[in-house]
Amino acid sequence: MLDTMTRNYFIYSIVLISMLLQSCGSTDPSLTLDIPKEGFEVVQYIPVESDGRDTNALYLAPRRIKDDEFNTAELNVYIDSMYAMMLRKSGVGIASNQLGKRLQIFIIEAKSSNPRYKVLGPVAKQVFINPKITKTSKERKNFWHGCLSAHGEKRGNVATYEWIEYECQNQKGEIQQGRLEGFASVIFQHEFRHMLNGTYLDHANHFLSRGELDAKLDAEELPFFDLANDTLPLLIEGYVVGETLDEFHSHKK
Ligand SMILES: [Zn+2]
Repeated sequence: MLDTMTRNYFIYSIVLISMLLQSCGSTDPSLTLDIPKEGFEVVQYIPVESDGRDTNALYLAPRRIKDDEFNTAELNVYIDSMYAMMLRKSGVGIASNQLGKRLQIFIIEAKSSNPRYKVLGPVAKQVFINPKITKTSKERKNFWHGCLSAHGEKRGNVATYEWIEYECQNQKGEIQQGRLEGFASVIFQHEFRHMLNGTYLDHANHFLSRGELDAKLDAEELPFFDLANDTLPLLIEGYVVGETLDEFHSHKK
């Protein structure tokens, strides 16, 4: 009798422990491809000294897309949703972290119809998954960055490499390599910054409101997109060219 009770107690304990383990291991929704029915919105910047960064996807490491997630409806639907949001917000790029989903995915595209950026030329739509930068120019260019995650914030002047070479995967999981220059290179590095955590607001030293910036650009008092000197902060500071995002996050404090 006692033996049976002990055995039953043992079985109940095992069941309880495994249920507890299961609930502990339940997946963080920010790490899945699921699109939430509510709250799928652009996450906003949080100032350095403010609380909330430890739970905000903009400041947390994104995970790699796994082999068995490529070429699936879930991945394609998720990326279509990212793209739809980018178009809705009139952005020229969007990173998954900005939507509260910590995934190594971003999209760039600048249409020639975008009045603000048409002088910089159109940029073809490209999706980058599990990206890394493999090579960069020595030269850097300045750019006055804004961001969908910096609503109401000032524009910030930071440097990006004039050109970069990258390696990433496409939605089928195929390895893609390429080189981007000009405006495409700027947008790539802006979105890549989101994968490293933080935004241009954490790196820029010079800020102007959109009105102030436009007035200075119109008067040609400022270069919009020109060679930058070494004193201008680099947007992707801390990233070692050639490393994966996982390697970057493993050595980051
Ligand atoms: Zn941004």
